[in-house]
Amino acid sequence: MRRMRLLPIIALSAVGSAALVPADASAQRPDAYRAQADSLIRAATADSAAWNRIAELTDRFGPRFSGTESLERAIDWIVEEMRADGLENVRTEPVMVPRWVRGAESAELVSPRRTRLHMLGLGGSVGTPAEGIEAEVLVVGSFAELERRAAEARGKIVLFDVPFTTYRETVAYRGGSASAAAKAGAVAALIRSIGPFGMQTPHTGGMRYDTAAPRIPAAALSMEDAMMLRRMQARGERVRVRLAMGAQTLPDVQSRNVIAEIRGRERPDEVVVVGGHIDSWDVGTGAMDDAGGSVAAWEAVRLMKRLNLRPRRTVRVVLWTNEENGLRGANAYRDAHRAELDRHVLAIESDIGTFAPRGFGFTGSDAAAAVVAQIAALLETVGADSIIRPGGAPDIGPLIAAGVPGMGLEVDESRYFWYHHTDADTVDKLDPAEVARCVAAMAVMAYVAAELLEPLPRGAPPAAR
Ligand SMILES: [Zn+2]
Repeated sequence: MRRMRLLPIIALSAVGSAALVPADASAQRPDAYRAQADSLIRAATADSAAWNRIAELTDRFGPRFSGTESLERAIDWIVEEMRADGLENVRTEPVMVPRWVRGAESAELVSPRRTRLHMLGLGGSVGTPAEGIEAEVLVVGSFAELERRAAEARGKIVLFDVPFTTYRETVAYRGGSASAAAKAGAVAALIRSIGPFGMQTPHTGGMRYDTAAPRIPAAALSMEDAMMLRRMQARGERVRVRLAMGAQTLPDVQSRNVIAEIRGRERPDEVVVVGGHIDSWDVGTGAMDDAGGSVAAWEAVRLMKRLNLRPRRTVRVVLWTNEENGLRGANAYRDAHRAELDRHVLAIESDIGTFAPRGFGFTGSDAAAAVVAQIAALLETVGADSIIRPGGAPDIGPLIAAGVPGMGLEVDESRYFWYHHTDADTVDKLDPAEVARCVAAMAVMAYVAAELLEPLPRGAPPAAR
């Protein structure tokens, strides 16, 4: 996921919705659906079905990286299971995705002592020559420090040892370090892993090359190893590292978005989208990121079916492919459904982990925000009753940009970036009761938004903040 900036909770009562009260006023009031909301919450929190499904998906298929057989086999299995659940219009839509292959990789400290370093190449990086690259290391703490010391960087491996503040702020070093170092004449770039805490767990993630700079290899070190190299440099020791990476980018291959529905009983061509991304990085098993969000969306609709709660509009599960290293599934969904985007009432995504839910981050008109705040009030018992603005998630970004009201599930994310994009992103990090509350939140928000007599008012979205 990419993190959005969050702003304080809006005043729930401040924004009037008088202009959109229909003739049958009660059918437009979210609190008229409390009984249905409560039955969805009871069903979601009655057992560990969602957690069990995340466990089965991630244990059986492992990581689901774009371009791999395991991603496509996981998609085949999900389609079969969704059909067995009785979901409607279960299908896939083709998406061409990039295929980056990590290959064998290692980083070795050569001086002042020899030891293996804990590393992961960054997604999209070029590889090294087969014999690797051995060079002296220059450790810097920021892009600004590299600019001041650019004359020292030529021919070296530059390590950006940048402490984690927020994901949004610190992730700039994952994206931009290689080209910044290359412009100063460096032969490779290393970063301190993007995360607040480590147990010698390097974090991978996407990077990009500027067209103006040579393409040099880029990898993350565990935060412990990055901090050690900085201490060595501070003591005046000469730090040398050998980096070897077999990474390569192969031609694009086909993957698929997964789609399933419960069709609306009155206005089936109006749609509430609820989803997550089905791909993951190639390490760990992508349980938090984002098997959890994918299964929460799927379970939300399965429970509507099971409870015979068929809403006025269609609720559509979308599991996007290739969020992590391309966002191709999100863009392909927007393109394939362009003709019906004006009938997309709301798009909801979970992609910050299925930990204890807090509510939703919402982007849309003030009038729509007032309505979704009233829907969220139905989620007080699961702790998911706050609405913050703006909000969203990566795969619904293209829909929000096209004018669709969008929201991301907000959770207690205090542990998310400990495990994010590491070998430690596995299902044991998720708590079955918290996952169940995420399912309840997604189900109630999607159901009531699809059931209200009038669609959420679009209006002008708030000015970019
Ligand atoms: Zn994600």
